[in-house]
Amino acid sequence: MTHRFGTLAIHAGQEPDPTTGAIMTPIYQTSTYAQESPGVIKGPYDYSRSANPTRTALEANLAALEGGRFGLAFASGLSAFDCVLHTLNAGDHVVLCDDVYGGSFRILDKVYKQMGLGYTRVDMTDAAAVRGAMTAATRLVWIETPTNPLLKIVDIAAVVREVRAGGTPARQAVVGVDNTFASPYLQNPLSLGADVVHHSSTKYLGGHSDVVGGALVTSDEGLHARLKFLQNAVGAVPSPHDCFLLLRSTKTLHVRMERHCENAMKVARFLAEHPRVGRVSYPGLASHPQHAVARRQMRGFGGMVTMVLRGGLDDARRFLERVRVFSLAESLGGVESLIEHPAIMTHASVPADARAALGISDGLVRLSVGIEDAEDLIEDLRRALV
Ligand SMILES: *Cc1c(COP(=O)(O)O)cnc(C)c1O
Repeated sequence: MTHRFGTLAIHAGQEPDPTTGAIMTPIYQTSTYAQESPGVIKGPYDYSRSANPTRTALEANLAALEGGRFGLAFASGLSAFDCVLHTLNAGDHVVLCDDVYGGSFRILDKVYKQMGLGYTRVDMTDAAAVRGAMTAATRLVWIETPTNPLLKIVDIAAVVREVRAGGTPARQAVVGVDNTFASPYLQNPLSLGADVVHHSSTKYLGGHSDVVGGALVTSDEGLHARLKFLQNAVGAVPSPHDCFLLLRSTKTLHVRMERHCENAMKVARFLAEHPRVGRVSYPGLASHPQHAVARRQMRGFGGMVTMVLRGGLDDARRFLERVRVFSLAESLGGVESLIEHPAIMTHASVPADARAALGISDGLVRLSVGIEDAEDLIEDLRRALV
């Protein structure tokens, strides 16, 4: 029997503990397991870097939420991406979004480039441009949608079509999607043709700003085998306690996402009407350039809203200092509302001219709309926008 999202969120991968009936999967805080006889182990459990029952439950849960066959959990979103990059060889080439998450760009540019990996960044809202950026050596196409911080929407199915239409061997390139901003509740890239889905579980999957983690989900047996080998060989696995926290979080993912979407839409509409706000980017607004793609591809439009304040850097700074319910902080996806200034905070390491080319102006402000009462959030913004 196949269940729907909310039922899977609460039950997939988890059963009452066979020895006690405990309804929650225990935190198996153990590094090793007693063997009955040398080499005779229970299931996959011989050492906790290789496998741990709390992690097994989380991995099965995440796989179910993405509609995939195999899940793998990692110590951070970046270590999950690192695992994907480790499948590549020197001389291989990666195509990725122009405004890919800064840390994902950094690991390519500052770590893997030295080891012989090439890359090209491209605006993937133009799917045909992806094929144009591919070379005979392209082995990975890395999509992020919605993007950060401009919330551009990439048509995943269209990019997959372009990649598969390319010349061999590049057409066999792995298509990966960083699904962090959407969460599995709003978008399932595997069903749109992607080979692997990536998450920073630090964000919506965790949802409470108390865990750093990452995940990969795929239905491809060969790719899973390689990734699983690397997960153990490289060893960036999450602790049993973090796995427990994430299992606790995914049980409410669907409920939280509904409220994130509802609140973000209200906040976006309020901001779009405000005289001090120049432009609002929210995939749910008809004014968003890829609104039609978002409608087709996503179940809801998410909790992230980006706006451009009129005035300069000082006006932006004053506004950010005046908010009270929103916290001035990096990261996103938690139940509490956060606000940040990309040019000063998350994207400060991007050179000013590159920031300008990406549209990250001094007035740009990014909101992670939480699940508080929308009226209080809007009141807070109204008060700060004087
Ligand atoms: C935060 C984030 C990451 C990195 O994940 P960490 O858990 O911080 O390592 C990758 N991609 C996106 C879109 C993110 O927001």
